[in-house]
Amino acid sequence: DGNPLPVPENPIEVRQLAQNFNKLLNRLNVKILQEQQFVSDASHELRTPVAAIRGHATLLKRRWKEHPEIIDESLDYIDEESQRMKTMIEELLTISRGNHMEIENEKFDLSEYVARLITEIQPAIVQKIEVQLTENAIVNADKKAVRQVLIAFIENAGKYSPVEKNIVVKLKTSGDTLDLSVADEGQGIPNEEKEKIFERFYRIDKSRSSEIPGTGLGLSIAKQYAEMMGAWIFVSDNVPTGSIFHLVFHKES
Ligand code: ADP
Repeated sequence: DGNPLPVPENPIEVRQLAQNFNKLLNRLNVKILQEQQFVSDASHELRTPVAAIRGHATLLKRRWKEHPEIIDESLDYIDEESQRMKTMIEELLTISRGNHMEIENEKFDLSEYVARLITEIQPAIVQKIEVQLTENAIVNADKKAVRQVLIAFIENAGKYSPVEKNIVVKLKTSGDTLDLSVADEGQGIPNEEKEKIFERFYRIDKSRSSEIPGTGLGLSIAKQYAEMMGAWIFVSDNVPTGSIFHLVFHKES
């Protein structure tokens, strides 16, 4: 008649097992819901530029003969909106690749690396980038990921601050951490938005309604990279105005 089922010797252990199993299931559920939400948000966000492009294409088809003056404006819209869509698709691909992305941390001197990156980035940014570095800035990090985060910070500083104000990139040691920061003198970020801006598709209303182009994905990608490297990412206030974005590493000796 076979072996009897093993009777648990310790019922508390069984309960613990069941609880752990439940926790795992819950986490899996949350993950699936988040993925569904992401796909639905992405589709929604892509619909806007597609609708604008179709609208203008239809308008052109119907009217360009009688109203040739609309041609330039409509083509500009189509150009702009398709550019926005291209950026968004590229960023969505980065996010979905990120799930399988290999982060290879290595020890290197962040100071040297940042100096080189700034030389590379400066020509694409209108504002002057001021650099303040520190010596012995050895970190265990992934160079590609650091590059992505720094570019996201600097591009935003460029977009959201006046052209005549400098952007300051600073590397500072404090205790056993290294703080790589990008400061601007723009409008700054209200306290209640400081965490939300790192969520996917989130844009502060002001940036949405203004003419500044964007997708609300840049900082969520930066956060993903930071977490994969084991670094912290956050924003603080600049004085008297503007914001400072930080990427903080453990210092290696
Ligand atoms: P995007 O710039 O494409 O909108 P991001 O994810 O890079 O998306 O940023 C999210 C939002 O955070 C922006 O829309 C903007 O409202 C705000 N933000 C980001 N960087 C800055 C900055 N340096 N100064 C002010 N607001 C910022």
